[in-house]
Amino acid sequence: MKEHNRKSRYSRQERFSPFGTDGQRKLGGSHVIVVGAGALGSAIAETLVRAGVGWVTIADRDYVEWSNLQRQQLYTEEDAMKHLPKAEAARSRLAAVNSEVKIDAYVMDVRAQELEELARDCDLMMDAADNFDTRLIMNDISQKLKVPWIYGGCVGSSGMTYTFIPGHTPCLHCLLGTVPLGVDTCDTSGILPPAVQMVAAHQSMEAMKLLAGQRDNLRSTLLSFDLWRNECYEMKLDHAKKDDCPSCGVQAVYPFLWSANRTKSEVLCGRDTVQIRPARKMNLDLKQLAHRLNGLSEGQISVNPFIVILQLKLHRIVFFADGRVLVHGTSDTMEARSLYYQYMG
Ligand SMILES: [Zn+2]
Repeated sequence: MKEHNRKSRYSRQERFSPFGTDGQRKLGGSHVIVVGAGALGSAIAETLVRAGVGWVTIADRDYVEWSNLQRQQLYTEEDAMKHLPKAEAARSRLAAVNSEVKIDAYVMDVRAQELEELARDCDLMMDAADNFDTRLIMNDISQKLKVPWIYGGCVGSSGMTYTFIPGHTPCLHCLLGTVPLGVDTCDTSGILPPAVQMVAAHQSMEAMKLLAGQRDNLRSTLLSFDLWRNECYEMKLDHAKKDDCPSCGVQAVYPFLWSANRTKSEVLCGRDTVQIRPARKMNLDLKQLAHRLNGLSEGQISVNPFIVILQLKLHRIVFFADGRVLVHGTSDTMEARSLYYQYMG
């Protein structure tokens, strides 16, 4: 009886003829890395593990909080009460969903070196990150190792996704400055769960096609939608590939894998403060930032011509116009970076 049940486990997707038993076999032999275990990461990981991807690796730096439960489908009230790291809570839930899948979980801030090591033997990277620093690192690793990655982002009621295939599509670096990719985050603009589900559904379906070897069926456009306003756009990006792109061009140097181009965080001695310096020099509109942060349910904002201060219950975050940020009230760089990306995206 048990054996019979096992055989029927994937029958409904094998019966879908374009996918079939061949697609299922290939899925079972694949390794996918999910970068981030928040809302998108939860939804994507659950779909891929249920579908029978042979090996799923999840990396995330955060722990489960009460405000995550509204949309991060793998987590429970118990996880939030125990402040369990998301990667660990996800691993234990996913192992209960499908014991046939090898699941590796890493509680870590995903940086270039670590991700490159993890990605060496993977077939696909899924973007469920909450910031563009991580995405630019994924993008360079994708180009260097010739591994596809699937971008996904959502905020408010809208979402966006694109499938990056090294050697075929433009890369994220090619699109910087030409495609509006937004800086709002779920912490500043909120998020409605169906927008997450929609992006995750598109990303997961692209993953199934790709892993099944059916690249002709991949969507070739950047998809953008707003479920609240009932809008949906597709953008052709074939022309956006740049021959001189430092990440995917003829003389690619993968700049976001260099330490000089990474966002840096350092503990300021004896001050219980972490300083975070972005990789690229920014010129922030502080008034606009203050306005955006003002919409938050928590924290108090004060602003002068040089800085914006966000006073939270346990931390004080100070934003400078050049993009530098001081997080007071911690000497833990992982915690500080986590707060930084919550508000800076
Ligand atoms: Zn490029």
